[in-house]
Amino acid sequence: MYTEKDKVICPACKSELEKLHNTNLVDEEKLKIFKNPRRILEAHFPIIRDDGKIEIIEAFRVLYNGNRGPGKGGIRFHQDVNLSEVSELAFIMSLKNSLADLNFGGAKGGVKINPRDYSKTELEKISRGYVKEFFNYLGPQIDVPAPDVNTTPEIMGWMMDEYDKITESKNPAFITGKKIEDGGSEGRDKSTAMGAFYIIQEKYKEVKNKQEIKIAVQGFGNAGGTIALLLHNIGYTVIAVSDSKTGIYNSEGLDIEKIYNFVYREERKKRLSEIQDEEKISNEKLLELEVDILIPAALGDVITFENAERIKTKEIVELANGPVSPRAEEILLEKNISIIPDLLANAGGVIVSVFEWEQNLKNEHWSLEEVNQKLKDKILKAYFEVKSLAEERQLPWRLAAHKIAIDRILEKNK
Ligand code: NAD
Repeated sequence: MYTEKDKVICPACKSELEKLHNTNLVDEEKLKIFKNPRRILEAHFPIIRDDGKIEIIEAFRVLYNGNRGPGKGGIRFHQDVNLSEVSELAFIMSLKNSLADLNFGGAKGGVKINPRDYSKTELEKISRGYVKEFFNYLGPQIDVPAPDVNTTPEIMGWMMDEYDKITESKNPAFITGKKIEDGGSEGRDKSTAMGAFYIIQEKYKEVKNKQEIKIAVQGFGNAGGTIALLLHNIGYTVIAVSDSKTGIYNSEGLDIEKIYNFVYREERKKRLSEIQDEEKISNEKLLELEVDILIPAALGDVITFENAERIKTKEIVELANGPVSPRAEEILLEKNISIIPDLLANAGGVIVSVFEWEQNLKNEHWSLEEVNQKLKDKILKAYFEVKSLAEERQLPWRLAAHKIAIDRILEKNK
């Protein structure tokens, strides 16, 4: 479908689209709109550092597709940020927003810095500089940013303030992921894990004794730590969890509440390796445990061609983005391991982001119960749509999810 001369910026988008094309699931002609991002913004703006020196900051904002509404997607601060990565993430956001039936297109932003190398004052200058560069193409009805890797509610607050100054008005709906006092939503911090939790609860509702279900979670951060705790609290048996340094394991089940409190109770987040009385397990071995549900919740590409044969779980719920490589997926599907794809499993975050935007526009503040109920309704609607298409057409869930998302975007072709 694509030739070398096509200026395709995002190789991963290309391979996903080719898969859909090869299975004749989507009209090739219509797919042309996904060949390139709709809009690419790139800036090199100066800041004055604390030592008085000038530094040029490289920044991007990409709107991959806007058929369904304003752009929506986070801004990451990372030293490896580049245009290809930002475009790929914006493509994924287009699909994720569409699958969740949010009236938003997909966008993403990035700033090529290692935030650890900058003081707070410098980070504020960079955040404000980003908005100054791109404000013409950002806004509640144009493109709505949010946090991503290394960007925080505080950074969202600086960006919002800069936008308000430039436009001489108050626009909390300009950006999401803000602190509650700046107009943030209840439940946003736990929303990614909550979304996956509702899906797992639905899928395993027939199992009366949840203790029978064994779970391993890779990553004990916002997404992984929260899902482990939620599942533990209603009786599932979580036998292993890990962070970047080590994992801990107990075949009879870990006391996740105790572990969670140990890691998060004090201001300094603790490492799992500091826990004395539990057996240690490497991240590699954790992935290979014989469990019912494996939840990768840390990094991309942790299950690859190299270790796919050794994976023994019955099901994978992708809380991280892209934890299973395409070649690994083929092997896992051969082994009858089902995969709830990232597009669906971790959509809770963006769903509640959009709730924040909606609350800001209506000048409302919803209770946590209200937010969670709406999240549950929205994510289970997407879950049932994917499930029924996958069953009806005998498709892997990822392909079914992609087809639904792409069809919805194409319906709005203009
Ligand atoms: P986080 O920084 O809060 O936590 C990441 C966790 O992964 C930490 O426990 C860290 O120690 C661990 N980790 C880092 N490197 C590791 C390694 N090499 N092996 C094992 N563990 C490692 O991040 P998060 O917000 O929980 O995000 C985790 C994943 O979920 C990412 O892939 C992210 O893109 C995805 N995700 C998060 C959200 C969200 O709202 N937080 C939304 C969508 C997707």
